[in-house]
Amino acid sequence: MKLAMIGFGQAGGKVLDKFLEYDERTGSGIVRAAVAVNTAKADLMGLEHVDEDNRVLIGQSRVKGHGVGADNELGAEIAEEDVGEIQGAIDNIPVHEVDAFLLISALGGGTGSGGAPVLAKHLKRIYTEPVYGLGILPGKDEGGIYTLNAARSFQTFVHEVDNLLVFDNDAWRKAGESVAGGYDEINEEIATRFGILFGAGEIDGSDDVAESVVDSSEIINTLAGGGISTVGYASETVQQQDSGGLLSRFRGEDDMAGEDSASTTNRITSLVRKAALGRLTLPCEIDGSERALLVVAGPANYLNRKGIERGRKWLEEQTGSMEVRGGDYPVGDSDKVASVVLLSGVTNVPRIKELQGKAIEAQDNIEEIREESDENLKELVEDDQDELESLF
Ligand code: GDP
Repeated sequence: MKLAMIGFGQAGGKVLDKFLEYDERTGSGIVRAAVAVNTAKADLMGLEHVDEDNRVLIGQSRVKGHGVGADNELGAEIAEEDVGEIQGAIDNIPVHEVDAFLLISALGGGTGSGGAPVLAKHLKRIYTEPVYGLGILPGKDEGGIYTLNAARSFQTFVHEVDNLLVFDNDAWRKAGESVAGGYDEINEEIATRFGILFGAGEIDGSDDVAESVVDSSEIINTLAGGGISTVGYASETVQQQDSGGLLSRFRGEDDMAGEDSASTTNRITSLVRKAALGRLTLPCEIDGSERALLVVAGPANYLNRKGIERGRKWLEEQTGSMEVRGGDYPVGDSDKVASVVLLSGVTNVPRIKELQGKAIEAQDNIEEIREESDENLKELVEDDQDELESLF
């Protein structure tokens, strides 16, 4: 599936950069166009793979290229005012060649947190292509303002996009490590999971011996209906596929076929379970998911219809959904079989409820502290008996 990707803010830009790197490395062909938007000039300059012409600095008259300092209301205002500049870059995208837009942004910061929902609303008004969001939640140790920003942005963003795919930084923090320490690894994880998912819809089915290739319309239909999505992933290294060389002569054809069908099916079903029950991009209860899509990627002789069909049925039972799609994604030169499970329309997400609770607490605290400090300042500046007079 071909995407027009827009990275908004610092994290959005960095993840977009990672997608471009992934695309170049794997040849997946998912990034048809890439635009980075920011109010901070230094962040745009730090990108490595996004074309310089496609880096849009907004809000110059307001913040002079220095960013919005985690003020997402300002981020939203600037995006609103300068949406024409962003549109200028999007005008260069051959939109008729893309299947959808993907807006990538952290929800805890300022520029992307405020700006991405504004841009989503704008794009939906202008284009008929679906507009998806990839929203990144902050780590729990990042503090009140990030939590409050994320909760407000999340609520706004969900309403403006056709589907919000969520990645929770907190779930990916390694023990004893701050979130910041592991960004590169985290971004790699994001690119791999979503890269395989969206890459699946890019195969035309004519090459290799794919039995039931995923089409981009299946991805779109799984995401249609809106709401929140999460993605699971599991992989296993297998022996590199050889093309009838010495190895296959030693093994003998029968042996190869026999070994394959039973263990291929078992491997796939076990990978599907691991993906769905393991760490999701947004941890949640999978029971109650409205729709799901299973993609099994790997060398064609490690994929089979039976494995995918069993995996799909198992997902139906676990989610209780009647809309579970599945298919394969043959990747000739890979030494891995991977399973990616997209769960769409998830509603049982304790992490979001917790985020909202913490955000309300932070909001109340911020108001209280502001009122208190106004009073304290007044007390400090004014003399007790009101004997002094201000100059003017
Ligand atoms: P903005 O530039 O004002 O939109 O703000 P940021 O994009 O820096 O948003 C801050 C949030 O993004 C924090 O919650 C960080 O944890 C998160 N963040 C910053 N950089 C990265 C990154 O490279 N990867 C990921 N996954 N999260 C990041």
